[in-house]
Amino acid sequence: MAYEDHAIGHDIIARYKNATLASEAHFQAANAYLPGGDTRRASFFTPYPLFMERGEGCFLYDANENRYIDMQNNYTSLIHGHAHPKVNEAAKSRLETGVVLGSAGEIQYRHAEHLCKRIASVDAVRYCNSGTEATMFAMRLARAYKKREGILKMDGGYHGMHDYAQVNIFPEPMNEGLPRAWAEPWVPRNLLKDVFIAPYNDLNRVEELLRENHDTIAAVIVEPMFSSGGMFMPDDGFIKGIRDLTEQFEVLMIMDEVMMFRLGYGGMQEMSDIRPDITALGKIIGGGFPVGAVAGRKEVMDLFSPAHSHPVFHSGTFNGNNITLAAGLAALELYDQEAVLRINILGDRLRDAFKVSLKEACVAASVTGMGSLMTVHWRKQAPRTARETFEGLLAAWDLAGLFHLEMLNRGIFSAPRGMYALTTPMTEKEVDMVADAFGETLSLLKPYIADTRPDLIIG
Ligand code: PLP
Repeated sequence: MAYEDHAIGHDIIARYKNATLASEAHFQAANAYLPGGDTRRASFFTPYPLFMERGEGCFLYDANENRYIDMQNNYTSLIHGHAHPKVNEAAKSRLETGVVLGSAGEIQYRHAEHLCKRIASVDAVRYCNSGTEATMFAMRLARAYKKREGILKMDGGYHGMHDYAQVNIFPEPMNEGLPRAWAEPWVPRNLLKDVFIAPYNDLNRVEELLRENHDTIAAVIVEPMFSSGGMFMPDDGFIKGIRDLTEQFEVLMIMDEVMMFRLGYGGMQEMSDIRPDITALGKIIGGGFPVGAVAGRKEVMDLFSPAHSHPVFHSGTFNGNNITLAAGLAALELYDQEAVLRINILGDRLRDAFKVSLKEACVAASVTGMGSLMTVHWRKQAPRTARETFEGLLAAWDLAGLFHLEMLNRGIFSAPRGMYALTTPMTEKEVDMVADAFGETLSLLKPYIADTRPDLIIG
């Protein structure tokens, strides 16, 4: 049965449509010019995405003037929510004096200085315009430094949209055993031989691959907490184990902190005291404007210098533009130790509330994450690999979709895949509103869960 044919699903969708007529009209119009009616897969959902008109602090307003608490905050990048006065002031000051001057500028090394002082492993920085570019340049830098072509990445790990990163963005579908490199047809086949795949948390497999292929692998790229692979913490010792193995086999370690940097003042690497050779950054470091950065230890980063005998060619029309870096520096300065701690504690409060609601409703789902980031999984056990995450998602795509829509009906805007992220304008009040909406949505959907996924009902 399709979920809209179930009475509860039908009701949720009908109420969504009723409240968002203006978004539906926009969606019809947008389809004439944008394939699929929007321009970003991650923000699309059925029956149609909301068309947002404005954001203020931690709130969003759609085309019908419905207000939402923004728990997605542009996929975690708006650490201070929308239109923070100090961030806006910094950006506006640069509007007056020119956005991109096509040359070097002081704000570039000021922003870089801030990152170098903040992140223990970072001596130098180069800027680009997205997390995608950051991981792409990080991999290029590693290949140039090591003069090898291979990259070892985790099955289901997301590092952006470039070709290397697109290998195994979803776990390999056909194989029950250890994952092999695979990709959709839009990725060149000849890349697959250069990408080595290990399941997240499988240190033995990482070791095996490095032992057999260290002559061809330039770097291991890994996230300190797995994001779209399931938003779960690594097993104890996994990240440290990768650091040790990369040192043992003389391979570089790239830490992708594009999303997780917000979790610790000096990035998530600070918590486990791991010093990668290269760190990929993005999202919050641009104050809400498009940004990416490759950062790392001097000897490796020096390859970007035109003064190097064989420099890595690194350019980009908007690299280090004034608006991004001025807004980014303002945002980083505001996001001090205290602010990091405060929203991480608020995040713990929300995660705990979700768990209590699930327990009270006798629904077996798991809540993963750390601090200000979390994901709800419609499976009994929290996932430990991307394969487990995606199996859970496939088995509950309808439930996850309806849950997301009903949260919207109750004024909570989150990522369709069940991810929630906090921002500094939030207080206990907003967090408790999200928790209440979660509990009410769960009660409403419980009969649907009992009908369609009785295995998730406890007792
Ligand atoms: N790496 C990680 C861990 C990410 O979460 C993302 C985006 O969500 C990226 C890379 C790509 O960043 P962008 O979307 O800015 O290209």
